[in-house]
This record gives sequence, structure tokens and C-alpha cells, in this order.
Amino acid sequence: MGNWGNSANRSLQSCIRNSLALLLLPLPLGILAYNLDGNRWPNGEATFNVNIPGTAPSGVSWNTAFEDALAQWTDQTEFTFLLNNSTLDPCAGFSNSDDLDGFPDGEGDGLNGVAFGDDVCGNEFGSSVLAITLTIALPGNLGFALIDQTDIVFNNAFNWDVYTGPRRPEVDFRRVALHELGHVVGLDHEDGVSAIMAPSIGDIDVLQPDDIAGANALYGGPGDCEILDLSINSVIENSLSEGDCSVLELYGGGEDTSFVDTYRLNLEADTKLSIMMESSALDSVLLVTDDKLTGIDFDDDSAGKCDALIKGNFPAGEYLILANTYVEPFKCPGNTGSYKMSISDNALPILSKASSVSGATAKSIFHGGATADGGLTYKSSFSSSDVINVTASIQPDAAHVGKPATFYLVALLSTGQKFARTSGGKFVKINKLSSIPAHSQTSSLATEESFSFLKNLQGDALGVSNISASFFVGYSLDSAPGEVYFNGKPITVTIQ
Ligand SMILES: [Zn+2]
Repeated sequence: MGNWGNSANRSLQSCIRNSLALLLLPLPLGILAYNLDGNRWPNGEATFNVNIPGTAPSGVSWNTAFEDALAQWTDQTEFTFLLNNSTLDPCAGFSNSDDLDGFPDGEGDGLNGVAFGDDVCGNEFGSSVLAITLTIALPGNLGFALIDQTDIVFNNAFNWDVYTGPRRPEVDFRRVALHELGHVVGLDHEDGVSAIMAPSIGDIDVLQPDDIAGANALYGGPGDCEILDLSINSVIENSLSEGDCSVLELYGGGEDTSFVDTYRLNLEADTKLSIMMESSALDSVLLVTDDKLTGIDFDDDSAGKCDALIKGNFPAGEYLILANTYVEPFKCPGNTGSYKMSISDNALPILSKASSVSGATAKSIFHGGATADGGLTYKSSFSSSDVINVTASIQPDAAHVGKPATFYLVALLSTGQKFARTSGGKFVKINKLSSIPAHSQTSSLATEESFSFLKNLQGDALGVSNISASFFVGYSLDSAPGEVYFNGKPITVTIQ
């Protein structure tokens, strides 16, 4: 993600000009040169309110011509214009500003409208300007401002008509509408190749390949960046480094040069997910989007200052998960390096880091939490009257499933005492962590193993208060008994 300020972006994209000077430079075929203006609609669509009274001398109504222009963008690009036939003043909520040729004062009305006008909401049209598009966009996370509202005003000072083919003295309303709608979509002027987005009006009267490529770069999904398939209940170890796609490349524009790895996740049913990205090298940033990169969820710091966590219910469908960081190192050591991502559908909170005694790595996911309301909420701080349950579960590395294994449950108290929970449900005091009595054994490790640390414990009933405990659950394969895999981040419980 970019390191961005917070001011709203108010831009005035005027100016398709009524000038004769239109220079087309010869460029090799296949070079597309569209320019993006740094703005993007959050979900690739916009509803335009279109009710322009009157008819062109050719007999085509202004509404029909404008709707034709909307339809060209919708039919030929990944952007979608929706039509509302209500009358809407594009200048509602705007008034003239002192700034000549500047953006009008006011915040508008949050809606997209179009009309002819003698001026731009009180401000002068610039010299030979045929129409102006006003855009208000709000700060976004990924190097784009997110467009909230656009309005188009056509200059009454010109003689308008609707026609196709070479340019005539009258101005063709439809091709100017096409151009202004290109600004609405988020395109800037293009004077290098044939484009409706040329800065001056000419003989082009329909969208050109460059215009279409520009809109599709913004709204067509993840370009040429590699997409890795992801499955639920897995752990990925990867890194962000030189050679990875940047957000700018993934989104086909913008200004965000931070690296990003892109994963595809297919959910066949509605699923409650926990997705965690953790790193000691970079500031983890997680995004969940739809298959067109429209944002659904975002997190930076929920799992700790360099770790990100997204939890929620996701409807069945295809998602993209973006593992990202900052353009400039921010809070954490760097902006490249390795990270670990775990994705789980367990109802318990996901715990950080599968650690092992010997430093061996395993793609196991540990969950656990403490609750006083039957699992509706998990937290770490309780009163002495709360009735507390602490549970944990292990989703072992796929390579471990089916093998004989031994489980260990350990509690470390703030007093310094250490306990192991045995199969009989007793907590046994232990002196050193190198000799922990086993909780239980299995001849075949399941894909998920669940454990209870505390069942209906009430501080008052036991005379316990002002105490904290950290709970760890671990397992070792019987083929390598010294290698214990456990949750690096404990379940913590404090009884006030
Ligand atoms: Zn323009």
C-alpha cells in the first residue's frame, strides 16, 4: 500500500477542446499508451442520472446520444454504467469559487449528473472548452483515490448536433460525451495514439482500442501478475522481493509501487475465515478482493504491529487475497522479505506462528481462545465471576496427518509456575519444559485435533484472582519425539 495523506481529491477534467490542432504521432502497432488519472471507482460501476431536455438538429435526442455513449463504455470495457432517467442538476451542491478556471465550491450531492450549462456551476468554462467533468474522489489504500461522484457540464456556447464521421463545424455531442465519460471512468488525456481521450476533438467518433485498454487496465482484473491458488486450512511461506508484481502492475495503474503477491481462493460454500499474514521482515498488509480486484476487506495491524489478520464470513465465490506491504518501510524493518500466511475456517481464533522446539518448520495451524459466553466472543481479560472455557485445536501439517503422535498441553502462570495438563484432566506442576508429561497419544493424527484446557472455571469459586496464564498446545510425531510443534503465540487469560 502507498504511504498516503487524507485529503479528498477534487479534480476538474475539462477540456476536450474545440481546436483544430490534433497531432497524431506515428507509433508502432500494438503499443498502447492510455493515461490514467489516478482515480478509480471502488467497484467498477457508476450510475448516471440522465434527463437532458431537447433534441439535436439531426433529430436524435440528447438523452439517446448520451445513453449511446454510456453503452459504448459498458459494452466494450469492463466498466459498467447504470442508467437512471431522473433529472439531476450536475451543479447541485456546487457554487462558483473565486478561483478562475478552478473547481467550484461545495461538495456536490454525491450523485452523477449531466446537463448543458452557460458556465461550470458558476465558474467560467476555459477558452474553447466544450465540456467539463468534475470528479470528487476519496483517499484509497492502493495508490488510487476512490471516485465518489462525477458531474458533466456541456458548454452552451457551442452549436451542438449528433452525427458520425468527420468533424463538422457543429460539435458532435456523442463523441464529446464519450470523451467526458472516459474522464468519469478514470482516464486522462492521450495524445500519442488514436483515442477518444485525445485532448482535442477530431474525426474519432467511437471508442478506440487504446481507450478500451485503459478502462480494462483499471477494471479488468489482475493483469499479467502471477496468481497462486490457495486452499482453506493451509499455510504458505513466501516472500515479497524484487521481481514480484507491484500494486501498480496488478491494478494496471495508480502510483503504488509496493510489492504484492496475489492468491486465488474459491469458496464452494459460505465460509467463516481467518486469514493471517505475519512477518518479522516487513509490515504485513492483507487485502481480500473479488476476482476484479474490487476491495472487500483490508487489514494492516490486527495481529500485532507487523502482522495482519482478516476474519469474517465470506459468501461462496471466487476471491483474490493480496499479500502486500508499504512502499516505504513503515513501523517494521523493511519492505521486502519473507512472510507466512495461514488461512483457516476454524471457529476458534487463529494463533500466531507454528513454532517447534528444534526450529524445524511445519505448516500446521494452531487455534485457541478463552471465552465466557460459550464461544460468542473470545478475549483475554476476565473478571473473577466469569465462567471461563479455554479450548485449542491443531490442524497439523498435511505431511503429519495419519502418523502416530503425542500431544502436550502446558500452562505458564504469571507467578512463574508451570503446569502440564494430563489425560486425566489434572494439571501437574512441572519444573522444566524439557520434560513435559504427555496429555494424550494417537495412533493416527487427524486433520484437526481439539483440546480443552479449562472447563467452566470461575475465579471466585476457586479463590483465584489477579493472575495471568499463557496456554500452549503442542504435538510431536512418535518418529521424532524431540520435535514438538506448538503455537508460538499463546492463548492468554487474565483474571482480574
Ligand atoms: Zn478531456
